[in-house]
Amino acid sequence: MAPPIRSGTVHPARIRVLNQKGFADGRFVLYWMQQSQRAEENHALEYAIELANHFKQPVLAVFGLMADYPEANQRHYTFMLEGLQETQTTLARRGVKLVIRLGHPADVALEAGKKASVIVCDRGYLRHQKQWREIVSHDAECRVVQVESDVVVPVDTVSSKAEYAARTIRPKIHRHLPEFLTGIRPVKVRRSSLNLRFSGINLKRIEPVVEKLAVDRSIGPVSTFYRGGTAVAKRRFAGFLKNGLQHYDRHSNQPQTDDVSHMSMYLHFGQISPLFLALQVEKTGRAGEDNRASYLEELIVRRELAINFVHQTPDYDRFTCIPGWARQTLADHQADKREHRYTRRQLDNAATHDPYWNAAMEEMKTTGFMHNYMRMYWGKKILEWSKAPKQAFDATLALNNKYFVDGRDPNSYTGVAWNYGLHDRAWAERPIFGKVRYMAASGLERKCDIQAYVHKVNKLKEKVKNDR
Ligand SMILES: Cc1cc2nc3c(=O)[nH]c(=O)nc-3n(C[C@H](O)[C@H](O)[C@H](O)COP(=O)(O)OP(=O)(O)OC[C@H]3O[C@@H](n4cnc5c(N)ncnc54)[C@H](O)[C@@H]3O)c2cc1C
Repeated sequence: MAPPIRSGTVHPARIRVLNQKGFADGRFVLYWMQQSQRAEENHALEYAIELANHFKQPVLAVFGLMADYPEANQRHYTFMLEGLQETQTTLARRGVKLVIRLGHPADVALEAGKKASVIVCDRGYLRHQKQWREIVSHDAECRVVQVESDVVVPVDTVSSKAEYAARTIRPKIHRHLPEFLTGIRPVKVRRSSLNLRFSGINLKRIEPVVEKLAVDRSIGPVSTFYRGGTAVAKRRFAGFLKNGLQHYDRHSNQPQTDDVSHMSMYLHFGQISPLFLALQVEKTGRAGEDNRASYLEELIVRRELAINFVHQTPDYDRFTCIPGWARQTLADHQADKREHRYTRRQLDNAATHDPYWNAAMEEMKTTGFMHNYMRMYWGKKILEWSKAPKQAFDATLALNNKYFVDGRDPNSYTGVAWNYGLHDRAWAERPIFGKVRYMAASGLERKCDIQAYVHKVNKLKEKVKNDR
């Protein structure tokens, strides 16, 4: 079905009408915000405003806050609510009321949607995110339109199948960049929704909200290291453009440095737009072409390969998702002798014989983040030290999603599966790993200053102790 109105702002490939229903005789256009939790550079929001201006109505935004989001704990909720608090204030300045309601996201959207002319939603690629949108488009009494705002190139424009590797998706993405790598201008809100009588929870203080949700509080917030919100993300990114980007390519395997953008958690919660980041990098002349190209490769090609993977792979969170050749070679070596074997509890306690691995585990527990190079090493070692590959896969994913602020993301599932051969090629055969790529502690010692990394993590732990 064609989009309800031609947008002057959003590329038509980002817009998809999800049901066959007509516009209702409603009081407002509802923007059901769930993935793109921001007030800026948000195609779904701008499209909702365009529609509302067309109908001479206000835009009401709602967000459904559920207590039992899969694998979420206090760390994730706090970061997300810090962001939503800011988004609510920024949207109010634009004349858009954001109501945050406790409940299942689909129920919250359907309830608010009873009085809407049309529901606009953003897009998510994980199983439950797709299911919510199916429920809403099926049960709503009005038209539901989805607008894709958290990728540079819309996923269905890039490919209609699970891509084999970065090398196969890269040309498909690059071909479309001139068309999609363009800024989005804010649309002026003609009718304010601030006076609409719609109540939600008060976000002035986050702690009581988290308490009321009764979520798992065993994993505490990491606000001293990473605070949620678009403004913090933009400030941090400006710092990276100034000081980090110029070293990005050379330091991609140097975890003792901090020359990465730390944008993953902001991207995960939709607090920052990937398009905004890409355009900022393109504009930054002083960093040099190699660094700009490397960053855009990670932000666009690798990140959107991960989204392609979860979108096209129903079992993306299970061991069965890894390629057949990798499963076969790992099975061939399942009985190989393991010199070290650890239980999930020992791993969680960072109690292995390997000080580099323990430091990585401590970094993720303490700060909710880890440099990509250490994530690779961390995951590979769990495979090496577990009784069987499937058990290792499950333990890695569980720890990943428990501690990383950016966990439970398409990148989480893809990153973990990469350890087991996804999007990679076969290497020389060796014990336990078979033909799956291996990483050694001696490689860390040779390629980076791993002692400096261990020292950096110790200082982070000390900071937390002193702050208490
Ligand atoms: C075992 C393992 C687990 C991982 N788990 C997660 C996870 O839970 N959540 C998560 O967001 N990422 C995960 N990654 C991917 C990657 O490590 C992180 O996205 C990156 O380290 C985040 O740091 P940054 O934002 O400073 O990245 P930068 O280096 O500054 O890169 C900018 C952006 O590019 C994207 N990006 C960077 N590296 C990758 C990559 N290898 N694959 C896909 N996209 C990438 C991210 O969106 C990142 O924010 C995992 C990787 C591995 C190997």
